[in-house]
Amino acid sequence: AKRGAELSVLDRIRLTVRFRPDLPNVQNGAKNYPPPEMDDKTVTVHRRDGAILTTRFEFDKVLPPSSTQEDVYSAAAADIVDGVMDGYNGAVLAYGQTGAGKTHTLFSASPECIGLVPRAASQLFCQAAVDENFTYQVSLSFIQVYMESIQDLLRPEKSKLAIRDTGKGKGGSQGVYVDNMEEVEVNSMDECISLLQLGDRNRSVAFTDLNAHSSRSHAVVIFTVRKWNRLETQQKTAVARNFTVGKLYLVDLAGSERLKRSGSQGLRANEARSINLSLTVLGKCINARANPNSSHIPFRDSKLTRILQDCLSENSRTSLICCAYPGGEHGDETLSTLQFGERAM
Ligand code: ADP
Ligand code: MG
Repeated sequence: AKRGAELSVLDRIRLTVRFRPDLPNVQNGAKNYPPPEMDDKTVTVHRRDGAILTTRFEFDKVLPPSSTQEDVYSAAAADIVDGVMDGYNGAVLAYGQTGAGKTHTLFSASPECIGLVPRAASQLFCQAAVDENFTYQVSLSFIQVYMESIQDLLRPEKSKLAIRDTGKGKGGSQGVYVDNMEEVEVNSMDECISLLQLGDRNRSVAFTDLNAHSSRSHAVVIFTVRKWNRLETQQKTAVARNFTVGKLYLVDLAGSERLKRSGSQGLRANEARSINLSLTVLGKCINARANPNSSHIPFRDSKLTRILQDCLSENSRTSLICCAYPGGEHGDETLSTLQFGERAM
């Protein structure tokens, strides 16, 4: 059930754009783009193509290169995590070209700029600790989707996980879920961080070229939060215990850059096709949600959207962070990233 005005803003996707710090000494010839202009909610891109073409975008929040991890968290994640504590599903997705800051934004473990995923865990633990009415159990899963195959990053021997759908509404049923996926109960930040590190190691071990690999798969961290009413739990017998479940999906998407048609063959071409497919379907599913009249939502057209189905549907909260370079040399990719975001709103 919706809770009036509180949820209405979140019925559609929340859109945040984050510009990474510029790189010093960028060496690039033709700059068709002056740097984009930005303020709190808008980005204006100018493109020199004979004349200057100007496109203005409006988002919920635009974070400049000087923005902090804390800024990203409060703009894009804090109230999604609140919702999960209340039993709503939520998803936060980082989109953008390779190098634009998706992994930094989500996973940075360095103490002075800790990322969104550990911050979310911290919020879950802190709120659970001060809630006098409910008991919570938090568990963590960590998977990746690579070439339409689902791999368990906490148990790399599980490399072909299947998706099941029990349908919603039946007592205790889970809806759409990844069958046989590792789900580890976590009770502290230390436990969380070491599982995230384990997953990250496994993500790179499977392939020789770390950079290529991590930019070509979607990584998904799932927090499952179960909560019990303390009073009911005391009064009822064990079998009668009801609990509420909220799931939080945090997604580091594969790089959105369009791979050059010439030169990519074999595995690289298949990877590119697979990424293009899943990002295109994701875009369609997100757009469909922004448009309540759409009848068919193509969740089943890619593994990623199937996994995210329950988080992209009604009564869940979704936040998209578009990561981009502030410099003109990436203008084409920046423009296409902002267009993806604009279509999602
Ligand atoms: P992506 O995951 O989108 O490919 P990364 O997050 O790996 O990009 O970022 C590429 C590099 O730039 C990394 O070394 C990362 O630490 C750095 N970086 C990205 N965003 C920021 C930021 N906001 N502040 C500091 N360093 C950043
Ligand atoms: Mg990355």
